[in-house]
Amino acid sequence: SSGDSLQPLESAISDEERFKDVAPLNVNCPSCNQQFPFGGIVASKRYQICYNGLQCSQCHHQFSPLQLSCQLERALRSHISMYYAGYLKCDDGTCGIITRQISVFGKRCLGEDCMGVMSYRYTDKQLYNQLLYFESLFDVDKNKKGLVKPLYRSEHPDAPDAALPASQIMALGEQNRELFQTMESVVHKYLKNCARRYVDMGTIFDFMIAD
Ligand SMILES: [Zn+2]
Ligand SMILES: [Zn+2]
Repeated sequence: SSGDSLQPLESAISDEERFKDVAPLNVNCPSCNQQFPFGGIVASKRYQICYNGLQCSQCHHQFSPLQLSCQLERALRSHISMYYAGYLKCDDGTCGIITRQISVFGKRCLGEDCMGVMSYRYTDKQLYNQLLYFESLFDVDKNKKGLVKPLYRSEHPDAPDAALPASQIMALGEQNRELFQTMESVVHKYLKNCARRYVDMGTIFDFMIAD
């Protein structure tokens, strides 16, 4: 259907809309093992972006660039392998449950209290969107403009009480530009590999990706 094809005009829609069905980038603190969704330079009860990178709010561990890039790379690889494996994926972006197990309740998500629906195939478009979402999290200019998809719905128990002040986001964006660009380049590597692999997506990638 036309709803499944990527239109150039989609670049005009907001990240919140475009990425409404993506899975979060879940990160594990190597020190205290807290798992939390990373959403760029935004307010979070679980982590904070400092002048020199990502810090766990639970144990104050400061992630090395390698600790962050490895986790990003792992997430990228897991999504690409899901595309090949045909796993079931919950359509609720805040849940992100992925499984091969089929619920006795049909397509209902196995997540506790989740009202999401498991869908069978990870489509070209979903993978592409997922990679673009990960890319957007490390887009300094997008972060500075506050255009990154919000991490939580307002009613979510983990939703932060207040947003970061714009001036703080601007400063943190510049202070972390090098780190974020390194992370972006990790995503680009996979976007380019995908472009080579998926012939039917070639025109899209040629159009969207500028070297
Ligand atoms: Zn920690
Ligand atoms: Zn779910």
